[in-house]
Amino acid sequence: MTIRLGCIADDFTGATDLAGLLARSGLPVSLRIGTPEDATDLAPFEVIALKIRTNPVEDAVAQALQALNWLRAGGATQIFWKYCSTFDSTAEGNIGPVAEALMEALGTDQTIYCPAFPENGRSIFMGNLFVGEDPLAESPMKDHPLTPMRDSNLMRLLTPQVTKPVGLANRLTVAAGPQALRDRLADLKAQGVAHVVTDAVANDDLHIIAEACREMPLLTGGSAVAMPLPALFQQDGTLQNAAPFEAPDIDDTPVILSGSCSSMTNAQVAAFKGKKHRLDPLDIAENGSQAAIDWLHQQPTNTPKLLYATADPASVKAAQAKLGTAQAGALIEDTLATLAQEALKTGHRRFVVAGGETSGAVTQALNVSRLAIGPEIAPGVPWTFATSAGHPIALALKSGNFGAETFFHDALEAL
Ligand code: ADP
Repeated sequence: MTIRLGCIADDFTGATDLAGLLARSGLPVSLRIGTPEDATDLAPFEVIALKIRTNPVEDAVAQALQALNWLRAGGATQIFWKYCSTFDSTAEGNIGPVAEALMEALGTDQTIYCPAFPENGRSIFMGNLFVGEDPLAESPMKDHPLTPMRDSNLMRLLTPQVTKPVGLANRLTVAAGPQALRDRLADLKAQGVAHVVTDAVANDDLHIIAEACREMPLLTGGSAVAMPLPALFQQDGTLQNAAPFEAPDIDDTPVILSGSCSSMTNAQVAAFKGKKHRLDPLDIAENGSQAAIDWLHQQPTNTPKLLYATADPASVKAAQAKLGTAQAGALIEDTLATLAQEALKTGHRRFVVAGGETSGAVTQALNVSRLAIGPEIAPGVPWTFATSAGHPIALALKSGNFGAETFFHDALEAL
């Protein structure tokens, strides 16, 4: 199998989101945590999750090029550069420099920028990005701790990040259909415009953009504009005999590990009806995690069980004040990672993990570096399949606010 579309994502949950949308096609999608060393089990859609959103530019570019080399060695001739649908980047910004480096390596002189995700309220009109009904710079993103977004205009955000001219294919062009968009891109190319911000306010726009740009060597955007690509490739006959993905049969009731303290995860923990055990960072700091390990071992194997550090903001603040923010976080992440290892040792093969950082800690503890993407439990959260210590396992990795209140039960039902 060779890679039909190679994807490079600037963070882990963004990679999961993209992989989940591509997997809606039913075709095999594989997510790699970091650029692998070998090239086994290639899928037609390969997504490499990097962690470069806020890295220094040079480092981000070097890591993206390393990922590109691996994807090309696996046969990829077309690359998708995935960043956040709110265009998260620092003032020095990695989105433009990575795109320019990929363009140069691929020998192409034009790409599009389309972070729109209408289903999630991200739309672009006249080059301005909206979050719901608010311009980006008036949305909560203006106060993000690492990447505060203080301008809503994508051309203005991108221009200082690149060396070549930036232009716009606006909604009027996109709405006129794929040929109109192709013509506009050709006009811009003739004027030397390398970076084209592309408006999209509705799902139909994304289909038009994907159709017009499906042969571009490099596409860039949020996850949504990639969603129509698998079906287009099938129509084009460029997906050589890719059989549908078949989820392995993993017969187990899940262990649920929750380290997210988002308001949605708090609601999900409260709504969970099975056996639960709370992890208190202050208690663990004093007495270690043995009590939690013992609790896990005492539970019957065939009932779903939840171990959670999830707490309301006041309790989190109290723990952070006593232990330090980083230390409290690391303590909980280590405990949940150990619990995952213990559960694996005692025969557990299904895990639900809540929290982005927590998911990173658990996948690392289980030594997982490749995930095959299965059916979605909630938008952006698929069941995934991996191997840990020689055992096939299933993992659902949920970042903070994803999923409905019934998420943990939904995960059981999606089996
Ligand atoms: P999210 O996806 O919701 O942001 P993360 O797992 O990325 O979740 O981040 C949550 C962080 O909070 C983790 O580092 C976790 O260890 C830490 N944490 C979890 N529970 C508590 C708690 N009760 N007190 C302090 N920190 C906590």
